[in-house]
Amino acid sequence: MLGKLRPVGSRVPLPSSETVPLPWAENYTAEYCASGTDALALAVGLAVLRKPDVANPEVIIPAYGCPDLVAAILCQGAKPVLVDLVRDAPLMDSQRLLDALTERTVAVVGAGLLGIPERLDVLADICRENSLSLIEDSAQCFPPQSADLPLADFVVLSFGRGKPINLMGGGALLYRGTLSENQQQFLGRQPTETVITGLRWRLKRYLFNLLLTRTGFGLLERIPFLGLGRTRFQPHKGITRRNLPSGLLHGALIDHAARPLPHKQYEQELRGLESEGWLLFGSSRFAMNPAISRLRFGVLVPDRGLRDSAVSALNAAGIGANGLYEVALPDLEGLSSLMPPAEFPVASEFAGRLLTLPSHEDVTQRDVKLIAKVLLSVNSTRA
Ligand SMILES: *Cc1c(COP(=O)(O)O)cnc(C)c1O
Repeated sequence: MLGKLRPVGSRVPLPSSETVPLPWAENYTAEYCASGTDALALAVGLAVLRKPDVANPEVIIPAYGCPDLVAAILCQGAKPVLVDLVRDAPLMDSQRLLDALTERTVAVVGAGLLGIPERLDVLADICRENSLSLIEDSAQCFPPQSADLPLADFVVLSFGRGKPINLMGGGALLYRGTLSENQQQFLGRQPTETVITGLRWRLKRYLFNLLLTRTGFGLLERIPFLGLGRTRFQPHKGITRRNLPSGLLHGALIDHAARPLPHKQYEQELRGLESEGWLLFGSSRFAMNPAISRLRFGVLVPDRGLRDSAVSALNAAGIGANGLYEVALPDLEGLSSLMPPAEFPVASEFAGRLLTLPSHEDVTQRDVKLIAKVLLSVNSTRA
C-alpha cells in the first residue's frame, strides 16, 4: 500500500487578518520562542532564578513522557528527577512525588499527555506548600488548562509538527505576574529571531502540508534515514526567542477551533474492547475538557505483545498507529547513560501497553471503522 494515514499532525494554517482573543491573555504574558523545548528551558531557567540559594537544582518530571523534558532541564544546569505514574493513567503518583522532593527541588512539571490533563490542582497544592514553581507542559494539549484556571506559574506550548497547533516549529512560554530583575536579564540574554510569513514561508508550508497527505506521508515513511517516528534523546543546545507575526497565531486559533475531533466515534466504535481488558482514554475515564484537542486517541492494550501486534496490523492496513515513546524515560536510546538506573515499574508497563491512534482533521469515519475492525480482529487472536 502506497498511501498511509499519518499518525499525528495537523496542517499548517495560513496567517489571518482577523483578530481573536488569546485564551491565556487575561492571566499570562507570552514569550514566543523557537520550540516547545526552548519554552520549557526558559521556564526551568526562570524557576531556578526564583530560588537563587539552591545549588544543584532539581526539577520533577513524570517517568514516562517526552525526552525533550530531560533535555530542557539539563540545558539549564538542573537535574531531572523522575516520578512514577499511577496505574493505567499518564498521571504522576502524588505520594511518590512527595517522596522525591528534596531541599534542592525548585519546580514540578505537570505534563498533559495526548490531551489528558494532569491534576494541576493536586500539583499546585504540593508546590505551594513547598515553595516550588509549577510548570504546566501543555505541548500536547491546547488550549492549556491554566488558561481557564491559572494554577501554573509557567505554561509551555509547542507549535511543532505533531502538536495541536502546527506552525512548522515554535513554542511559547506563558508566565504570570512580573519577572524579577534577574529573570528579566535572563530572558534578555537569549537571542531573538523574527518569523516572516513571506513567499519562502508559504512555499515551505505548501510542501509541508503536501507531506501530510496519505500519499505524501506514505512516501516520506519510505525514506529510511529520516528515522520517522523514532524517539531518541537529543541534548538541547540553546534558547532562541521569536517575534511571531500575530496573524499567524490568530490564523492558528481560528483553524484549531474549527477542527473536528473523531474521539466520540472512537469511543463508540471501540467500546466493545473495554470488556476485553482494553482501556480507552476517552472522556468517560478522564475529566477531559471537550474543547481541548486530543492530539491522538490513546488506548491501553492488555499487554505489550498485543500492543505490538495491533501496531503492525494497523500499519499494514494503512493506518499510522504507534506506541508513542514505547519505553519509560530512563530506557530511551541516548538517555540510559545519563540517568541513574532506577525502576519505574508503572511507567514501564504503561509504555509497553499504550497504543496511539490518529485523531487529526483527516481521519474519516471510514478510518475509525477500519481501525475498530482491525483491533477487534487482533484481540480475537489472543490465546
Ligand atoms: C513535543 C513536546 C515538547 C517539546 O516541544 P518541541 O516544540 O518539539 O520542542 C515538550 N513537551 C511535551 C510533552 C511534548 O510533547
